[in-house]
Amino acid sequence: MALMNGIDTNTLAELLFPDIKMLPENIEARYPVRDLPEGAKVTRFAPSPTGFVHFGGLFPSTVGERLAHQSGGVFYLRIEDTDAKREVEGAAEGLIRTLATYGIHFDEGAILDESGKISDKGAYGPYRQSERAEIYQTFAKQLIREGKAYPCFTTEEELDELSQVNKKEELKNTDWQAEAEARRLEMLARRNFTLDEVKEHLAAGHPFVIRILADGTPDAKVKFTDLIKGNMEIPENDEDFVLLKSDGIPTYHFAHAVDDHLMRTTHVIRGEEWLPSLAKHLQLFRYLGFRAPKYMHIAQIMKLDEAGNKKKLSKRDMGANMDDYTRMGYCPEAVCEYIMTLLNSNYEEWHMQNPEKPYTDFPFNIKKMSTSGCLFDFNKLNDVSKNIISRMDAAAVTEKVTAWALDFDPAFGALLQRDPSYAESIFAIGRGGNKPRKDLATWADAKPYMGFFYDEYFTVEDVYPENFSKEDIKAVLANFADIFDPTDDSSAWFAKIKEIGAKLGFAADMKLYKQNSDDYKGSVADVSMFLRLAVTGKMNSPDMYSVMQILGKERVLARIKAMADAL
Ligand code: GLU
Repeated sequence: MALMNGIDTNTLAELLFPDIKMLPENIEARYPVRDLPEGAKVTRFAPSPTGFVHFGGLFPSTVGERLAHQSGGVFYLRIEDTDAKREVEGAAEGLIRTLATYGIHFDEGAILDESGKISDKGAYGPYRQSERAEIYQTFAKQLIREGKAYPCFTTEEELDELSQVNKKEELKNTDWQAEAEARRLEMLARRNFTLDEVKEHLAAGHPFVIRILADGTPDAKVKFTDLIKGNMEIPENDEDFVLLKSDGIPTYHFAHAVDDHLMRTTHVIRGEEWLPSLAKHLQLFRYLGFRAPKYMHIAQIMKLDEAGNKKKLSKRDMGANMDDYTRMGYCPEAVCEYIMTLLNSNYEEWHMQNPEKPYTDFPFNIKKMSTSGCLFDFNKLNDVSKNIISRMDAAAVTEKVTAWALDFDPAFGALLQRDPSYAESIFAIGRGGNKPRKDLATWADAKPYMGFFYDEYFTVEDVYPENFSKEDIKAVLANFADIFDPTDDSSAWFAKIKEIGAKLGFAADMKLYKQNSDDYKGSVADVSMFLRLAVTGKMNSPDMYSVMQILGKERVLARIKAMADAL
């Protein structure tokens, strides 16, 4: 029989939890050890439904997904909804949808059913913590029985007051030793109660929390190996932290130990902000008689601020909310691949050697992960994305740009949809072959890139090439209009451009031009530029020959005339 303050802890447990009839062993029986092959990893993503999926959340969940699925294990989703005050309506549903967009598929856990509501799939549920109150209370009751936890009747108001006082004290007080001593005394006072006091409180209906009876001393260290950060020593926990709140709902710490044990998680992959709480968790696993899982604490994602300093990617930063990527027009594959480049430094090399293979074929390796924070960088993401899009065929690009535009730029979407084969001929320019053009990083880039193919979006940028006389430009335009023949092949077409140039004093040969530039008004590149400006309205465009083929004689000539008239 365990005693606490001379109180029989069995009596105390029954007083506090009269309705909990189950025993831990009854629960254990419902969560058998998983029947998996040797080395299979069981991982989970355990978000709190308090908002959108953050880039920094997709990161560990990708690791969890890869490790489980690469090893023939199980990856599951647990919704950590123990803080009703912070919960956002619909966030859990949104989260599941967003994760699915980024290839994060769960084998079990909270899922969306056909009607879009959350339900459970799998034998280790319930997967929403709010539905597991009885389980946590059963284990809390057991810890009371064993003298490892105790009730604390301090009310929330009192706690609030206390923390206010503590904060003020903290500001004034730099004498850490005195502060630690004050905390120790406070803790001892809390631990010191009689059975009669407990009975009185309960009879008066006072709320209580359950606290752990910490057995650590801060000078002593626990040895621990993090799979990313390596060997470390952390001070033992000496804080009687709360296990169950006054509504019977657990804190993160307690729910983590109970759930990850019962759901048979082998690897806990989470943000490094949990590292300071690790001593609490190890103590809990020990108290509960559970084997602790392996841990991987992932460093925060960083970004460079305007001054070039590294800082944490915050919730408000562009690129933090995964739903933004859809709006910005990134294809999910690009984001997934970009994450792989951040996660494993050898990913890019592998990808170059295996350009056709999906990222899921890459042998992801924990040892190749960076121990300090990865740097988030849109330029890099854009490079990855341009590569991916350049390898898609024109039909796929047309379909994806159209779908995106219908959601985010409906007028443009409608234009694309009006004549899909016209759109496809545009996206086919420069595609295929060994060196496909890399123009598009996002679907939103499509309109600035090829909008000029639609008269509705065609405008001539206000760039008059200052180094040339208007007369010369007009002469080039007029000459071209005279001899343009859309049935020419590309070499005949280009020969004509050189010919016009030569006739008007522009060097046909670039080498010659570079040697004696003073002898010429310009080069054939300038001649092309005048035509490009007239026909596309821009200084940069896809291949001009193809552009003119697609636009057709009438529109090419109309645009050339319009520019000549405007000069
Ligand atoms: N609900 C916790 C969070 O969102 C989960 C951390 C964990 O993975 O254990 O930070």
